Amino acid sequence: MTEVAEAIKEREEVPDSDKWNVEALFPTLSAWEEDMHSICRPDQKPHWPELAAFRGNLGEGAQTLNEFFTLTFDLERKLSKLFTYAHMRHDEDLAEEEHKKAHSLISIYYHDFGQELSWAEPEILALPDETIQSYLKDPLLKDYHFHLEQIIRLKPHVLSSDKEELLAMAGKALGTPVVAFSALNNADLKFPPAIDKEGNPQEVTHGKYSRYLRTQDRELRQSAFQSLHNTFLGFENSICELFNGHIQKHVFNVRVSEHKSCLDAALFPNQIDTQVYSNLIETVRENLPVLHRYMGVRKKALGVDTLHLYDVYVPLVENVDFKYDYETAESMVVESVAPLGIEYQQILNNGLKTHRWVDRYENMRKRSGAYSTGCYDGMPYILMNFQGTFNDLMTLAHEAGHSMHSHFSHTNQPYQYSSYPIFLAEVASTFNEELMFHHLMQQDLTNEQKAFLINQKIEDIRATFFRQTMFAEFELMMHQFAEKDIPLTPGFIKQQYRKLNLDYFGPEVEIDSEIDIEWARIPHFYNNFYVYQYATGISAAHALFERVMQEGESACSAYLKFLSSGNSNYPLDLLEQAGVNMRQKHPIEATIKQFDHLVGQLSQLL
Ligand SMILES: [Zn+2]
Repeated sequence: MTEVAEAIKEREEVPDSDKWNVEALFPTLSAWEEDMHSICRPDQKPHWPELAAFRGNLGEGAQTLNEFFTLTFDLERKLSKLFTYAHMRHDEDLAEEEHKKAHSLISIYYHDFGQELSWAEPEILALPDETIQSYLKDPLLKDYHFHLEQIIRLKPHVLSSDKEELLAMAGKALGTPVVAFSALNNADLKFPPAIDKEGNPQEVTHGKYSRYLRTQDRELRQSAFQSLHNTFLGFENSICELFNGHIQKHVFNVRVSEHKSCLDAALFPNQIDTQVYSNLIETVRENLPVLHRYMGVRKKALGVDTLHLYDVYVPLVENVDFKYDYETAESMVVESVAPLGIEYQQILNNGLKTHRWVDRYENMRKRSGAYSTGCYDGMPYILMNFQGTFNDLMTLAHEAGHSMHSHFSHTNQPYQYSSYPIFLAEVASTFNEELMFHHLMQQDLTNEQKAFLINQKIEDIRATFFRQTMFAEFELMMHQFAEKDIPLTPGFIKQQYRKLNLDYFGPEVEIDSEIDIEWARIPHFYNNFYVYQYATGISAAHALFERVMQEGESACSAYLKFLSSGNSNYPLDLLEQAGVNMRQKHPIEATIKQFDHLVGQLSQLL
């Protein structure tokens, strides 16, 4: 990486070697258009009368249902290829008109596809039990057996079709709290400037806030912390109502769909036991002294009398210069996966270096951030905005983990089982971050560099594991109060949130009063029991990583089999086959143990 900042290129100036090979999907936009026209038939509605032709006939016999599933998945597969191309092209230059149009068109057809199929699941669920049982036994349907099983398990919680229709119609109105919070948070709220140690005002935005919390300027940290939280405090009544409205929607859904609880209703469709959730919280709670010890190390390292909440993000090791050019980072990622065997390594090597999976650098109006994407009939692409930092290296390792998971699932599963479930989404990516961390620690490093890496890793576990578990506990508590009709008022929520912070941060940290309102600014609380998966994801990945490093070949092949499984079985069963049981304490404890070990190492190095 050169020290001189290079001018950001226009998309057409970027050499092919730095771009992903999107042409492998469709050579040109007109080739895409041609396919799109023949598959989506824009001029007719319904677009797919051949689907509607099955309506009312799915009880006829296994042969008919088999034909219906085959047709549905075949169409979906083609649509996903069209969609992948359009969204990738759109992200290359968000202002480019042709691709923007293609992207919104295919999004509409995707939506229409769902609508034109919306009758099918209710029709299957309404079939007599004998018919369903005979379908489950029929060898004609063996390729769709698990798919069918997944539909049928929803049966106890599905209402009559007129009620389901009514619920679907109310969906938009019930979604208002989420939309309103997002509008308030992203558009309307303005924060007063923070003041740095020189007395200069500094603009506060969401993006800048997290940067300020990592700066060595303590006055700026404190001022930004106060600016942000006090602003939210000024809107506590409105935000409380939005939050409450969102929770009430879940309570309503539980009451009409006969689930035991909001947690149950949220985890059930993803096939996760609520035991996984409670096990996570219980095990973390039992081990909170480990986190408290780290806060003690942090307090000592920063040399402060009182460790405030605005002191918990600042790096303990500064100015360690890790810089990589893209090719070096790529080679390091390939080297780091050696413990997974030569086949894995070669596939990744060829993907990155020869097949052009990666769109490497920033260009004008390119989508920011990084992700892995793709479809069954194409490569597992990666979008990067690589600038050569340590974070960029870890991001490339992370996205490569996702892409290899996709690669193995796509090549080993039929289309209908080829995409991995949400609960497992971050396992392979986090696993590869572990590999990279391990690889880096093997290099010839100064003590300072080692301390930097360990500090990064510790902070990563703290943010992904401990913090998200605290969030998960908060989310659960709030729903449980609402289920018991206990009113959620700003004062009550703040008090509960404060208690959690006291428990999690422990005696070494001054729990500043501003934190009581933090819940009001967390967009994730407008998802539905989502955050716990960050914590379970990192734990599962770490447990698998430990097995592979300690047990070698047998654990490695079990892991590769896991990567190859897509969603051909229940997520917890897939993990268990690879040797990790997320209903038990062990994987959670292993992550905490790793954290504790790292804290010990860091404290020695400092
Ligand atoms: Zn990821």
